[in-house]
Amino acid sequence: EATNASTGEDCCVKVAVHIRPLIGDEKLQGCKDCVSVVSGKPQVQIGTHCFTFDHVYGSSGSPSSGMFEECVAPLVEGLFQGYNATVLAYGQTGSGKTYTMGTGFHDSYQSGLIPQVMNSLFRKIETLEHQTEFQLHVSFIEIHKEEVRDLLDSSAINRSEPMNGQANKVTVPGKPPIQIRETSNGVITLAGCTECSVKTLKEMADCLVQGSLNRATGSTNMNNQSSRSHAIFTITVEQMRKLNPLVSTDGDVNDSMKEEYLCAKLHLVDLAGSERAKRTGSDGLRFKEGVHINKGLLALGNVISALGDEKKRKEGLHVPYRDSKLTRLLQDSLGGNSRTFMIGTFTSLHISL
Ligand code: ADP
Ligand code: MG
Repeated sequence: EATNASTGEDCCVKVAVHIRPLIGDEKLQGCKDCVSVVSGKPQVQIGTHCFTFDHVYGSSGSPSSGMFEECVAPLVEGLFQGYNATVLAYGQTGSGKTYTMGTGFHDSYQSGLIPQVMNSLFRKIETLEHQTEFQLHVSFIEIHKEEVRDLLDSSAINRSEPMNGQANKVTVPGKPPIQIRETSNGVITLAGCTECSVKTLKEMADCLVQGSLNRATGSTNMNNQSSRSHAIFTITVEQMRKLNPLVSTDGDVNDSMKEEYLCAKLHLVDLAGSERAKRTGSDGLRFKEGVHINKGLLALGNVISALGDEKKRKEGLHVPYRDSKLTRLLQDSLGGNSRTFMIGTFTSLHISL
């Protein structure tokens, strides 16, 4: 359930759904009438079941353009106050995760959430630049079969899968695998991962495009561009606020206490397809990947439900972050003081009752 995202004191998990329109010949197969949005309420009715969310987007009358302003802009705002945040797109392959997040190369300059985050971030920075010095970093990784891959390191990308289904593992000499580490004050870092320092909107957008191009895709019989990996675009904002120098009565400027430092990061996550492995109708390698994908998604589900259970949270319940790479990586940005927005994507084609 939603809590007040503006306080930053509670653990905030907001959940919305996005129902994408049927495209192409889906209209011919679609069972349009099995999903309906309860008018005026963030509720979706499927058959006789009714589900309530914080927001419902994409259906007629609810333009998805409101999603950024209502659910993501407050998270961007929070970065400037030092709060970490995570945005996650969850859904079956083909349901619109990549489109919604904007992690697809072709969509990257369009209406996806990441381009909107970048725009609002730089707009806000412009208004603060006279008093604050900013340093921005971007990393873009994917987690595939519980391995972290650096999408901004083009030398490590050469990993196309040949037709025989054997994974083509290319290890780059001298490059140890990326490791998730935790500092003594609980900050999660990615050791060995490219962190691009960016100064302009264009430089940040270039990182998004480059990483999106490098992203692994593989084909299953559900969707040729099906994605079996979690893609995580992370923006880190460091700020050094120049406070008014203290001038003493004799006119000397006191050199200490003139700066305030804050650091926060925003993870924008395009999750792997949530379809069950057996539904992709594949075997061997693909099935094994399915199991790994489920490991990340399953762990994520457990973490989110542990965080969402206020009673258990107060009792100090263990949150199982360590059960997968995905949740371990997001550990310092899910729960605690950080804000989370989860968007479930689907169409009426993706519903089986
Ligand atoms: P996923 O990443 O979940 O596999 P995609 O984002 O690739 O799904 O979307 C699947 C297809 O649906 C793509 O052709 C995409 O352009 C289209 N699509 C997704 N969301 C929308 C939307 N809101 N409006 C129109 N087309 C969409
Ligand atoms: Mg996708």
